[in-house]
Amino acid sequence: MITRQFGIPVTSPGAILRREKELGTPLGLETAETTQHGGLVSDKIIVELIEDWLRLHGSHGFVFDGFPRTTPQAESLRGILVRHRTPLDLAIWLDVSESTVGERISSRLQCQGCGFTTTTASAVFAERPICPYCDGPLVRRTDDDAAVLQKRLAEFNAKTQPLAAFYEKLGTLRRIDGNRDRDAVFGDIARLIEQAA
Ligand SMILES: [Zn+2]
Repeated sequence: MITRQFGIPVTSPGAILRREKELGTPLGLETAETTQHGGLVSDKIIVELIEDWLRLHGSHGFVFDGFPRTTPQAESLRGILVRHRTPLDLAIWLDVSESTVGERISSRLQCQGCGFTTTTASAVFAERPICPYCDGPLVRRTDDDAAVLQKRLAEFNAKTQPLAAFYEKLGTLRRIDGNRDRDAVFGDIARLIEQAA
């Protein structure tokens, strides 16, 4: 939505890793194995992939979705941006409660063909859910299981939560209530981007 409205390229570690997996690179296959078991890919690998992406796509603005996720990642990103002489305008923090996360994940479906995601609620399906774009099968993502969710929440509290203070100190943190519908959240994000531009 950000790319469509503002023409700014957006990426996430997940998107970069899925691309690596599709291309069948050794890194892509290895990291797919890790994430499938609920593990996290190392900061070093994530940061290298982000810097490669930035070099290719980031010369006229960029948005990272779900990055940085840890303080070491944030510190590496600061170093990368200094090298690229690009200041970070905004760190947008989406406040989302654990119950909202649980509800969203349990209703999420992803196309095995093209990666399109939807929810069981927003689409009405026959017995076999089919992707509206490529006719691929829509399935629950394997990393959406409850045990994996608990592990991710614990990791979030330990490793990601401290980033709020990190960016607050730099003066770039803006908080948004993420427990609302997509359009309300996007409206707030769009306003922040317009103000920063
Ligand atoms: Zn599809």
